Amino acid sequence: MEFRKLRLSGFKSFVEPAELRIEPGLTGVVGPNGCGKSNLLEAIRWVMGENSPKSMRSGGMEDVIFAGTTARPPRDFAEVQLHATDDKGEPLEVTRRIERGAGSAYRLNGDDVRAKDVGLIFADAATGAHSPALVSQGKIAQVIAAKPVERRMMLEEAAGIAGLHVRRRDAESK
Ligand code: ATP
Ligand code: MG
Repeated sequence: MEFRKLRLSGFKSFVEPAELRIEPGLTGVVGPNGCGKSNLLEAIRWVMGENSPKSMRSGGMEDVIFAGTTARPPRDFAEVQLHATDDKGEPLEVTRRIERGAGSAYRLNGDDVRAKDVGLIFADAATGAHSPALVSQGKIAQVIAAKPVERRMMLEEAAGIAGLHVRRRDAESK
């Protein structure tokens, strides 16, 4: 899977709609402190289904919505859209939107889908919200301090087999 484009609107500091092309190869994000570099990486995690407010540096999930400044009113929704191509080169467009008081909704190529469907797509492609490919601050220390079972989960994410656990739990509960 290759990421091609990221669109953000009302997500954290990205209050106005913004669009970024993601070129093949390594991408670097540079800028002064507080300009939104980490927010960008969090947007990528979030659209792939991240549900832990802590890893979004938030108290609650609605905190990802632009909170307003002295000069601008807050927004009532945040939306992130990730354009990618799958392993067959077919386009994949995943959108996550959160509205105050209404929770998150996902779309895949324009159709409403469940959070789980989106999670499975990325887990099967060995990417996703918990992918070891996204190395955030403190992550290296976390890997060193991790318990064996936690380290196994990281390896399973990297191997693209994390989605199998979800499917097994599903099958067992039927
Ligand atoms: P550093 O170089 O220090 O790591 P950075 O470029 O990674 O900085 P971020 O942490 O991505 O910066 O962005 C921080 C900015 O985002 C802060 O100014 C913060 O106020 C703003 N921000 C975060 N959440 C929201 C929100 N919900 N609404 C408005 N602004 C927000
Ligand atoms: Mg940062």
